[in-house]
Amino acid sequence: MSILGTDQRPLRVAIVGAGPAGFYVAEVLFKHDLNIKVDMFEKLPAPFGLVRYGVAPDHEKIKNVIKIYEKTASHPQFSFFGHVNVGVDISVLELRRFYDATIFCYGAELDKHLGIEGEGLKGSHTATEFVGWYNGHPRFRDQVFDLQCEAAVVVGQGNVAMDVARILCSTADELSKTDICQHALDVLAKSRIKEVHVYGRRGPVQAAFTPLEIREMGQLSNAYPVVDPKDLELNQASLLELEGAADAVRKKNLEILRSFTNVPPNSSRRKFVLHFKRSPVQIIGKNQVEKVKFEINELTGEPHQQSVKGTGQFEDIECGVFFTSIGYAGVPMQGLPFSPKGIVPNDHGRILADGKAIQGSYVSGWIQHGASGVIGTNKIVAEETVGSLMKDLAQLAPCEAPSTEEVVKLLKSRSIELITFIDWKKIDAYEIMIGLRCGKPREKITRVSQMIFIARDP
Ligand SMILES: Cc1cc2nc3c(=O)[nH]c(=O)nc-3n(C[C@H](O)[C@H](O)[C@H](O)COP(=O)(O)OP(=O)(O)OC[C@H]3O[C@@H](n4cnc5c(N)ncnc54)[C@H](O)[C@@H]3O)c2cc1C
Repeated sequence: MSILGTDQRPLRVAIVGAGPAGFYVAEVLFKHDLNIKVDMFEKLPAPFGLVRYGVAPDHEKIKNVIKIYEKTASHPQFSFFGHVNVGVDISVLELRRFYDATIFCYGAELDKHLGIEGEGLKGSHTATEFVGWYNGHPRFRDQVFDLQCEAAVVVGQGNVAMDVARILCSTADELSKTDICQHALDVLAKSRIKEVHVYGRRGPVQAAFTPLEIREMGQLSNAYPVVDPKDLELNQASLLELEGAADAVRKKNLEILRSFTNVPPNSSRRKFVLHFKRSPVQIIGKNQVEKVKFEINELTGEPHQQSVKGTGQFEDIECGVFFTSIGYAGVPMQGLPFSPKGIVPNDHGRILADGKAIQGSYVSGWIQHGASGVIGTNKIVAEETVGSLMKDLAQLAPCEAPSTEEVVKLLKSRSIELITFIDWKKIDAYEIMIGLRCGKPREKITRVSQMIFIARDP
């Protein structure tokens, strides 16, 4: 039997998902002094996951990581197969036939819901729908957002909630220089929103946003920040939470929030209002969102373990559009175990079924560790996952059919329109060319059929 990872028998690895996790896994694999063939499968025709479809359009510099992913994609042993929905177009079991190891990096695309009355009303949306819509994700292309009201409410105080609030507070002029999709820009340009209210159930010290994001909210050309100084009064436990060296971010956040209390009102600008210690309990309206009812909370318990307790006091806010931004969870994939925590159960990246590692099956990125951290966090996780694979190498059972040609044949026999990296680069060039015409870095193609059409155009 030939040894896996040699010139006689390269180690064959399938990566499922072309987001940061998938690309970091490929990059780390290629750093090993072994002969490794990597085939990456992605559901959409476009690679890069949430770097393309999540990161805010006005955070252009963050998208520079794509250059690193493109370098990985140029490796002679790397192939990209876009427009392949693993679990649907090809099963997990089938992948095992063609690959010695499969590393699942398919992200966490399910929105967490509040589970309160009125969430289904017209005008009530998740941040994922809004972000996906303005970033051109094909699944959200046809979502409708009515911004002809005066007030928007966003529930959640992480960086995604800040992205949503910032986009709602930005001017069309500011956004028109970004890669925001034209269909979204057209709607945002006509927005009549004057106030954006962002709510968190805990206090300012526990908010999940980072200083960079909250500072930006005070630097917008057409909006000013508002914080009630009473909301910044801290209980003893919160004061103690600020003391550790690891809490520098919280301290910085608080400093910025305090500076917001000195910003004078400006009626010619939009108002961005932060509210703390408020939990939504009901979205009210006949057919359409009209009001949101919040319960006022207090924090109790030890520092870093404080819990939220409702006070039985309530307040309403009128608004015409409502967004939830309270986090993400993974979705189960046919053929893989799944944990109620919304991840694939694993031990240092080895997928576990009933507590035992499944030979040759690994996981990385958000679907491994949950939806938290920044893009770079996925690199650290990728090193761990690939490290586990390397430790297992000698025990790996070689796959039955070590041939990428056979995989391609199988997918083509199922009439899958495969998108290679060269095809993607054609779509990429087209988007950049269309964007240039209107002074934007790119104009994204938002329909899968159109992407395939461009890729096939000689
Ligand atoms: C709205 C938003 C904004 C963010 N902004 C920032 C930011 O500014 N800076 C920052 O550092 N971090 C940001 N993050 C976090 C960052 O995007 C994540 O850390 C990172 O994208 C997670 O990488 P991943 O590869 O695990 O998941 P993803 O990026 O979600 O990639 C998963 C990929 O798998 C594909 N896939 C799913 N199912 C299948 C299937 N069945 N078959 C094949 N492919 C499949 C998906 O299409 C996707 O391309 C943001 C996150 C969100 C949600």
